[in-house]
Amino acid sequence: MSSLALDIRSLSVVVTAVSAMASVIMILIWKTRKTYAGFGFWTTGNAASAMGFLLFALRGFIPDLLTIVLANCLVLLTAALYLEGMRRFRGVAGCKILGIVSIIFLALSISYYTYGDNDAGMRIVVLSLLVALFYALGARELLGNTPPDLRFSYRFTGSLFAAYGLFMVSRAFLTALDPGPHNLYDPNLIQTFTFLTPLLLGIAWTFGFVMLNSERLELDLKNAQVELQRLATTDSLTGICNNRCFFENGEREIQRARRYERPLSVLMFDIDHFKRINDTYGHAAGDQVLVAITAACRTLLRDIDIFGRLGGEEFAILLPETDLAGGKATAERLRSAITGTRIETGGATPHVTISVGVSVLLPDDDSIEQVLKRADDAMYGAKRSGRNRTMIAAAKQK
Ligand code: GH3
Ligand code: MG
Ligand code: MG
Repeated sequence: MSSLALDIRSLSVVVTAVSAMASVIMILIWKTRKTYAGFGFWTTGNAASAMGFLLFALRGFIPDLLTIVLANCLVLLTAALYLEGMRRFRGVAGCKILGIVSIIFLALSISYYTYGDNDAGMRIVVLSLLVALFYALGARELLGNTPPDLRFSYRFTGSLFAAYGLFMVSRAFLTALDPGPHNLYDPNLIQTFTFLTPLLLGIAWTFGFVMLNSERLELDLKNAQVELQRLATTDSLTGICNNRCFFENGEREIQRARRYERPLSVLMFDIDHFKRINDTYGHAAGDQVLVAITAACRTLLRDIDIFGRLGGEEFAILLPETDLAGGKATAERLRSAITGTRIETGGATPHVTISVGVSVLLPDDDSIEQVLKRADDAMYGAKRSGRNRTMIAAAKQK
């Protein structure tokens, strides 16, 4: 059995070097890349781990106060910093008090089992149980609160923490059951694993910390992109399609309708005497009218209809799978709904009407502009005929 054991002091030096390297890499990421709350705690945790294992390696060369008491405290500090980092990363309150109290308790216990009753076995048991507690809490933070979009990094890092917590509990029990005498430098399997696990898992969870950070960064970038796309295609006042969005989506629908020879109609409407509304009730009230009219129309339209504000108080609606009769019926429904809508604008209730032009896709049309132009002409025809009415476009452009 003991032939499988490795030299503990050498292992301790290797853990020091790897933890220090991990810490340096994380410092570089921390200082040069966008990192989230918590990343600094993980980085500092790796630095504390490097220092702790360096002190273990120096056992016998420098005072026990450093190589036993301080070294053990640094190992626990590492675990506490990792946990604090996870809580900060998740945006929940830290748990510094638990860390501080545990480290003070550990310092007192280790001092007692060093200078009072010198018992390496008890030192191992106390440290292992406390470290296990922090890794278990860390695992719970990640495995119990996994956001769907960050599943990989949360589960990966959380599982490593759970595994290390389990190892530390097992170490405490195996040590307590073994009558001893115990010595950190005993070349036995438990001690070998005690140094091998933080070495191997330490590399893995450093990767986990970096993944947690980069996965969240990717998600934020993706969300920002979606938001930018939304802002670029949405009319900020009414929340419906803006001009660009209407033409892009409309063009696609026109091409689809042409290809499959499907009916399609387009409505254009403009609020009647809107200048008067602005002049009488104020520009803000005018804005409220625009919002209310948009909302009223939306309730009457289908999901597949494309509703856009082309500018000012001019709107267009593209109705897929709708022939001229259907387009006219929709136009009339919208017009009468708006005429009957009481629009509250902070006291005043302006009476609003619209004039609508309706056109259909003709076989010769090859772009949305042509269909829209006929609807626009029809709308101005409706204005000239006295407003608050629907007019059908002439079949062919003159
Ligand atoms: P008509 O019946 O002929 O359409 O008369 P009108 O007064 O509505 O005339 P027109 O369509 O030319 O008026 C557009 C007015 O809409 C001018 C402008 O002050 C106002 N307007 C344009 N955009 C906005 C806006 O975002 N908010 C508000 N409150 N008013 C706007
Ligand atoms: Mg108008
Ligand atoms: Mg107008």
